[in-house]
Amino acid sequence: MTVEQSIISLDHVVKDFRRHGTSSSDPAGATRAVDDVSLDIRRGDIFGIIGYSGAGKSTLVRLINALERPTSGRVTVLGTDITALGEAKLRPLRRKIGMIFQQFNLFSTKTVADNIAYPLQLDHWRKDYQLRRVERLLDFVGLKEHAGKYPSQLSGGQKQRVGIARALATNPDILVADEATSALDPQTTAEVLSLLRRVNEEFGVTIVLITHQMQVVQSIANRVAVMSAGSIVESGDVYDVFAAPREPVTRRFIATAISGIPDRSRVERMHREWKGRIVTILIRQRAVHRAGTGEIVASSGQDISHLILDSGVVGQMLYGGIDTVAGSAIGALTYEFSGDRSTVDSFLARLRRHSDVVDFGTDDDPVDYERAVARVEPRSDAGRYPESSGDVPTQVEDRGGVQ
Ligand code: ADP
Repeated sequence: MTVEQSIISLDHVVKDFRRHGTSSSDPAGATRAVDDVSLDIRRGDIFGIIGYSGAGKSTLVRLINALERPTSGRVTVLGTDITALGEAKLRPLRRKIGMIFQQFNLFSTKTVADNIAYPLQLDHWRKDYQLRRVERLLDFVGLKEHAGKYPSQLSGGQKQRVGIARALATNPDILVADEATSALDPQTTAEVLSLLRRVNEEFGVTIVLITHQMQVVQSIANRVAVMSAGSIVESGDVYDVFAAPREPVTRRFIATAISGIPDRSRVERMHREWKGRIVTILIRQRAVHRAGTGEIVASSGQDISHLILDSGVVGQMLYGGIDTVAGSAIGALTYEFSGDRSTVDSFLARLRRHSDVVDFGTDDDPVDYERAVARVEPRSDAGRYPESSGDVPTQVEDRGGVQ
């Protein structure tokens, strides 16, 4: 990656926080919030940084806008090495980075228009320019009729739209969204995300999305980095990471957003209720490069209905789903296949030539769950994440090392 393409670049960045009352020579007295992170965000990206609470995401953001200084390593933003830049020189650079937050951070005593105008006042814009800019921004975020209202008179989604307008006021190059949709319901989240997509497309603003919600990454990001215990454990194009995740923590996040292999208890239930062969087929519309390894993972699950029609087996779809990530389909479908055993066997052998297939056997002759899931290797182990069990908390503490 060349420096020109990269709008934010972190090079082996470490951030330690010292606990009160400990000396700087005591290594046990520090918390390592960011641990040797190297990252390049390109101009025009919508870059998702996903991780559980405590993973180090907010610290990373504070390093990008220089509210924190790295313990070691280098941070470059818009071509400037900000690692050791003084406050006076940081100020114009910070103006190029807009921020929106989970709790909106609006002034409750200012109207919508005055909230949006605030950064322009700080920047000493002429009053008539301020008014024109605020009007354009109100129009862009669809809040023209609400200009004179106070934040308490607005819904959560409207408040966040004010937040976005305010963040865009001084024409930033970068917009950092820190859990910006975490306090919103799904419908409002979708509206705010589509507004962020327009910000990216119409103004060319690079967006850094900090989130613990994989659906947010799935719906608008083009690149993603997964953070755990201060480190980036996996990163790449969104489709590639979703289709061929390497790390267990990544799989757990993906399982909250798209269908995967059913978990053990669901397979057991399907065996009880259906007497035929229970089989999961992973769906991956196109081949992908597994991030960081150079390995290519083949497409899977294409043209299943034709194969079933030609095979003489009867297929009953029981469970699963397909979703679109970065314009290509991903998911998993679980079927019951009935027919005599040799017909089903030869059908599965044909299916395996171009698909990742997990064969759970029948109720009479089940395949051990772990062995069934492990057998999907080595064609690819993509999608080998069990489904979200329903009790996966949306935000749990990152204790590192436990994944
Ligand atoms: P996230 O945003 O992913 O929830 P944070 O960056 O807030 O994670 O925190 C990462 C780790 O750093 C946590 O263990 C947190 O307790 C610690 N940490 C963050 N900020 C400070 C600080 N100012 N002082 C001490 N520890 C901190």
